[in-house]
Amino acid sequence: MPGASVSVLTAAPSPAEHRVGGIFDELHPALTPPAALFEAHRCLQCGGPYATAPCTLACPAGIDVPAFIAAIGRGDLTKAAVTIFAENLLGGTCSRVCPVEALCQSRCVLEHEGRRPVEIGLLQRHATDWALAQGIKFRTVAKPKTARVAVIGAGPAGMVCAGELAILGYRVTVYDAREDFGGLVRYAIAPYRQQREPLPQEARLIAELGVDFHLGFAVDRIERLRSIEAEADAVFLGVGLGDDIDVRYRGKELPGVLKSLAFIEAVKLGRVDHVGHRVAVIGDGNTAIDVAREALRLGAEEVTMIYRRTEAEMPAYQHEVEEAREEGVQFEWLANPIQFLGSDHLQAIECQHMRLGEPDTSGRRRPEPVPGSEFVLPVDTAILAMGQKPRVEFFAWIDGLILDDGLLKIDPATGQTTNPKYFSGGDAVNGGATVVEAVRAAKIAARGIDGYLRHRV
Ligand SMILES: Cc1cc2nc3c(=O)[nH]c(=O)nc-3n(C[C@H](O)[C@H](O)[C@H](O)COP(=O)(O)OP(=O)(O)OC[C@H]3O[C@@H](n4cnc5c(N)ncnc54)[C@H](O)[C@@H]3O)c2cc1C
Ligand code: SF4
Repeated sequence: MPGASVSVLTAAPSPAEHRVGGIFDELHPALTPPAALFEAHRCLQCGGPYATAPCTLACPAGIDVPAFIAAIGRGDLTKAAVTIFAENLLGGTCSRVCPVEALCQSRCVLEHEGRRPVEIGLLQRHATDWALAQGIKFRTVAKPKTARVAVIGAGPAGMVCAGELAILGYRVTVYDAREDFGGLVRYAIAPYRQQREPLPQEARLIAELGVDFHLGFAVDRIERLRSIEAEADAVFLGVGLGDDIDVRYRGKELPGVLKSLAFIEAVKLGRVDHVGHRVAVIGDGNTAIDVAREALRLGAEEVTMIYRRTEAEMPAYQHEVEEAREEGVQFEWLANPIQFLGSDHLQAIECQHMRLGEPDTSGRRRPEPVPGSEFVLPVDTAILAMGQKPRVEFFAWIDGLILDDGLLKIDPATGQTTNPKYFSGGDAVNGGATVVEAVRAAKIAARGIDGYLRHRV
């Protein structure tokens, strides 16, 4: 949303800023070379020819973790980076944004021995940063093929699918409405995790494989889609999800009531450097937690998350909830907003207490309002972070696509949609997950497209 206007109050930075650092201060700064060597030598080199290491099994991209750590331990950063990029063309990005606490590092055997897990993410960053700075070429391209593939979306799924197809020798063109690469990595992932680097270097790497990028090209008319479709032998849809879902609360138009994606994008593009004194975040997922932590870093004195269930039902990563709490985020559990109050600016949110009833279709206990339990929470900023809408209008232009609750239905073994020429993966299919899940799906779809074109062409 370039140019999205986000109304924020100007408040002087508060002590919270000192507690948590500035908005662009990295949460996990890079290791120094001696620290990386020390960390690499802590690895026990699990696994072998008959058993894959548990950390590798837990990596959706399938990176050979002990192999790249061993290479770092030997001082061979080129070999380490080649091992990483062999499985993940966004190895540098993933080293920053992957929820390693819930993936590879959660399976590290050292934890079972009561020791701290190996810092796999930081080691991956050490190797990939070094190698990207050297401009080393990591992958070789097969003999050129005549078939053409169009990729719509230059987010993680589109970038990786395009790169893997180029490696197989296909002629690949990527279209994205945005002016920059990376989709949500560029415009939504918390700036204290990844601001922009190393996306440009990774995109350069993929372009050098032969991928043609058309940025600033929105496929926003059926005629554009038809002409892309006519020129391509297969199409990969890496379009992700759309804007924040709409809410019906009264007063939502008041200045001071913001939507999460527009807010984060404005922060990442440097258009916002302060937020209100008292901020409420409404939502229960990782985006809501990110927004709350970002508000603290922008100097809010009080940040309260409002959630209609309890901590036990919250879908956000537990470690993120803990970190947010340690930084000073407060939680109003079993509470639901009713309306936003204020005359010319948000002044408060009227909420209602909830209690948990029987489980709903999601298996979580259904929250029910407690009669007469209304209360008013004084705030000057509210940020709505309740999820993204699927891109159903766009999918309606493509014949034969079957959707499941707005998400594309695919064959999980090939990424093929119910229109044989179209493949997909990433958020458009899984409803919003992680970058590394998009990488995994893009690799499957690239193989699926290769199989389809080999039989067809
Ligand atoms: C606030 C937030 C924080 C997150 N934090 C993390 C994190 O810390 N770690 C993590 O691993 N994951 C995180 N995620 C999730 C992660 O960003 C996504 O899972 C991932 O980006 C999905 O990749 P994708 O390529 O499927 O979609 P996207 O990243 O959404 O990319 C889709 C691309 O398609 C383009 N596009 C869409 N429609 C069209 C069209 N019609 N024409 C042209 N272009 C089009 C868009 O412009 C966009 O560039 C976060 C998500 C959000 C919302
Ligand atoms: S599980 Fe831990 S110790 Fe074992 S190979 Fe992986 S990172 Fe090294």
